[in-house]
Amino acid sequence: GLAEKLQDTFKKLRGKGKLSEKDVKAALKEVKLALLEADVNYKVVKNFIKKIEIRAVGHEVLASLTPGQQVIKIVNNELTELMGGSKSALSFADSPPTVIMLVGLQGSGKTTSTGKLAKSLKQDGKRPAMIAADIYRPAAIKQLQVLGDRLDLPVFTMGDQSSPVDIAKAGISFAQSNNNDVVIIDTAGRLHVDEEMMDELKSIRQEVKPDEILLVVDAMTGQDAVKVANKFDDLLGINGVILTKLDGDARGGAALSVKAVTGKPIKFVGMGEKLDALEVFHPDRMASRILGMGDVLSLIEKAEASIDAEKAMELEEKLKQNEFTLEDFLDQMEQVRNMGPLDQILGMIPGLSGAGQLKNLQVDEKQLDHITAIINSMTPEERRKPDKINGSRRKRIAGGSGTSIQDVNRLLKQFKQTKKMMKQFSGGAKKMKGRLPFF
Ligand code: GDP
Ligand code: MG
Repeated sequence: GLAEKLQDTFKKLRGKGKLSEKDVKAALKEVKLALLEADVNYKVVKNFIKKIEIRAVGHEVLASLTPGQQVIKIVNNELTELMGGSKSALSFADSPPTVIMLVGLQGSGKTTSTGKLAKSLKQDGKRPAMIAADIYRPAAIKQLQVLGDRLDLPVFTMGDQSSPVDIAKAGISFAQSNNNDVVIIDTAGRLHVDEEMMDELKSIRQEVKPDEILLVVDAMTGQDAVKVANKFDDLLGINGVILTKLDGDARGGAALSVKAVTGKPIKFVGMGEKLDALEVFHPDRMASRILGMGDVLSLIEKAEASIDAEKAMELEEKLKQNEFTLEDFLDQMEQVRNMGPLDQILGMIPGLSGAGQLKNLQVDEKQLDHITAIINSMTPEERRKPDKINGSRRKRIAGGSGTSIQDVNRLLKQFKQTKKMMKQFSGGAKKMKGRLPFF
């Protein structure tokens, strides 16, 4: 993929010490090829390389002690700029409800993103409602209702006999009377951009005057996604893009070209099918991810969002008193699990983002299930005082949890090590407060 190619190129540069203009140009040629292979728009690549070349073959870089690092820094900066510089926030209406309209082709992920966005807004303390304005596919309304039930958020529907414009209008009145401060309208898509779809979307826009029109596009379609974005922007006008299925996009072409080609920023990215797999798009972090510097900031944010600060303090206290038990161990594990799929989490850690190291992770998720089963099969006394778990108890626990004695032994050993490690951590670092001792 793109990341590996760029990382290889830069590894060579780093290793070189002094660089000549020729070295830099050769490296940039590799970067150019890697970007084109990643399906980045040709014009975008050309401009991008030109900009970097001007900066990178300058005297200051070549004469510096770490020219390789300097070049990488320049590429990182330019990549960040290419994707919009800094993150683009949603704009909220002065008088609620804020109206957000999701548009896009069929299957791009509008309905899923409606749910994800509603979830994230709810977590931010908003009171979102969703409007089901796709009347053409029988399952579409039901799909949104299921999401609403799961999120415990209202979904406004009028069946499939009213016009989308009427539904949108009535939905907003409903939101007003129901005290919802944000409404998200899930609209219908077609397989291709056509007049009928655009006319319908324009009528809705005309009627409800959305604060945000967000175009949902599928990252896996590469430059097609960028073309679609251009068309929607020309014909309807969009405020930004939600780039979905980035989890399945090995190339990255759309992520890198959307802003440069359309002028409209990517505001969110979809990283999976689950409702919590929507992330605010940070160009700087994306650039670092591509260049293999990991994505420590996203990781920390994820950790902070899912880890209960009070619980962490409690743990610290327990560690001090040497009362950290297997129950706490289980609790910790669940918190890590709440952060999302392990492979996603570990992919953000620098040095682990290379695909190779992540192969065994499926197994690890399974191990977590084992550990949960084992601890659940213990008596409360055993969980508090694991030292007391002798051979016959181990046998009983293994039987009860459907695991082997070796599994039980391994867990007890792991627990001991974790406890020791956590003690070391909590002793020194004040800044660990409110965070998992693992990190
Ligand atoms: P719509 O026709 O635009 O409303 O698209 P849907 O929301 O129904 O999504 C189409 C398919 O894409 C569904 O199977 C979703 O689960 C899937 N999907 C949506 N967003 C993502 C994403 O970010 N990652 C992955 N892997 N799948 C996604
Ligand atoms: Mg849909």
